[in-house]
Amino acid sequence: MKEIITVTGAVAPKELAFCQCHEHIALSKGTSFAVNPALCIDQMTKSLEELERYRSAGGNSIIEAQPCGCNRMARELQKLSLDSGVKIIASTGFHKLIFYPKDHWIRTLPVPELTDLFVRELTQGMYIDGDFSLPSRQSNIRAGIIKTAYDKEGLTGRYTELFLAAALASSRTSRVVMIHVEQGADPRYLQEHLLNLGIAPQDLMFCHMDRACQDIQIHKDILKQGSYLEFDTIGRFKYHSDEHEITLLARLVEAGYVRQLVYALDTTRERLRAYHTHAVGLDYILRTFNPALLASGFTEKTIRMLSAENPARLLS
Ligand SMILES: [Zn+2]
Repeated sequence: MKEIITVTGAVAPKELAFCQCHEHIALSKGTSFAVNPALCIDQMTKSLEELERYRSAGGNSIIEAQPCGCNRMARELQKLSLDSGVKIIASTGFHKLIFYPKDHWIRTLPVPELTDLFVRELTQGMYIDGDFSLPSRQSNIRAGIIKTAYDKEGLTGRYTELFLAAALASSRTSRVVMIHVEQGADPRYLQEHLLNLGIAPQDLMFCHMDRACQDIQIHKDILKQGSYLEFDTIGRFKYHSDEHEITLLARLVEAGYVRQLVYALDTTRERLRAYHTHAVGLDYILRTFNPALLASGFTEKTIRMLSAENPARLLS
């Protein structure tokens, strides 16, 4: 088993413990904010407050899913981790192109250079600039995972090149590729494509699957190949109830895929209690959703699998 890279250094897989596998806890005000005002989490005292509550509820680690050049706050993530004691695995890679300015380098940088950039962020340190011009100021804070985004239009145009760079970076570093799956996109074609590029199925995590794909057969097809699914439509009642979420998880556990499921909240500013008193907060799974799982017949052992053992195996 290899070490897991956090913003404060490498840790052994068993040190990960309770981990939510797709969160946002720091996000500077930029193009993401212009697209959606909830995509700005720039008051660090509030981020710290959320992480401290998470820690005292039993949370130990999170994966931060904001990639380079896209309002990521690498230095702040390290400080938040040191101050809160929560381990943070940061992301390199790319997001949906709508989150970048029109003339951004992510749209044009040739694949070999893009691959090198992702690899440098994973092996040396993340850049602290790059939201507008090509990144030049590198920190020694390493990213631990490669974020990607599969938009509605699928593997067309620039996305084919971006996924190729992510796949090459993963092959060179053995780091996991996490994939934002947009509602309405069919991720089976992408999985096949990435497997053909030589990525191991267990190095792929398909995110937001509980709201992106309504057809459970798609979930099973992805799982059958050995990849992980991440669910985060928890406490998001405009999409569906927690009861619906629990039923979906239960069906996949019954189908034999308990070792390939992880969960999170995919927080935005709107979902953090430090900003909005009635929001769910980063500790919602620990305070509310896990007790609901137990009440519906899930065992402690299964919950430990979803929240700690699976993330540790996935990342290592
Ligand atoms: Zn996200």
